[in-house]
Amino acid sequence: MKRLMLCEEKGRLLDAYVTATDRQAEAVKALSAVAAKDNFREALAHAEQARQDAEEARLALHLHSKTHGC
Ligand SMILES: [Zn+2]
Repeated sequence: MKRLMLCEEKGRLLDAYVTATDRQAEAVKALSAVAAKDNFREALAHAEQARQDAEEARLALHLHSKTHGC
């Protein structure tokens, strides 16, 4: 089905953003689940990476919309 409102690249970036934010939410959930355990440091690093990925995905979407006007 053809996208009428979103251009193809914007749709791709939007999917990437949603995926990244989902992963971030999972990482944060995992972090609180292991907060009192030994692998806290590893979970913390993972959550931080997920946060950065989500931020990058959000920026890519924003920049694309701005430059492409979509
Ligand atoms: Zn576009």
